Amino acid sequence: MGTIYKASCPCGFEQFKLLQGRGLDRNAGSLEIFQCEGCHALINGEVDQSVDSLFEPIPCPDCKGTLHRMGGDADQHAWYCPECHEETLTLTIIGLWN
Ligand SMILES: [Zn+2]
Ligand SMILES: [Zn+2]
Repeated sequence: MGTIYKASCPCGFEQFKLLQGRGLDRNAGSLEIFQCEGCHALINGEVDQSVDSLFEPIPCPDCKGTLHRMGGDADQHAWYCPECHEETLTLTIIGLWN
């Protein structure tokens, strides 16, 4: 069971279907949402639990910047909008998946 987030910004930017958590496929890793420190891209990536890669720095596929994990405690953070680069991006839970 996982959580579906929507990212939105007052500038009009919206990104739906950011998935976090683990689906029914036990062989698959857990999905996490990341934001790039450099270009502010939102990346939905699979985390291999066996490698403990949550604590390894994962580079951005676009600019090789550092990725920060989003979601979970998202309410305590302000995130950067990939569109206008203001610190006004919010994550909202819009549903569940499995
Ligand atoms: Zn980047
Ligand atoms: Zn924006």
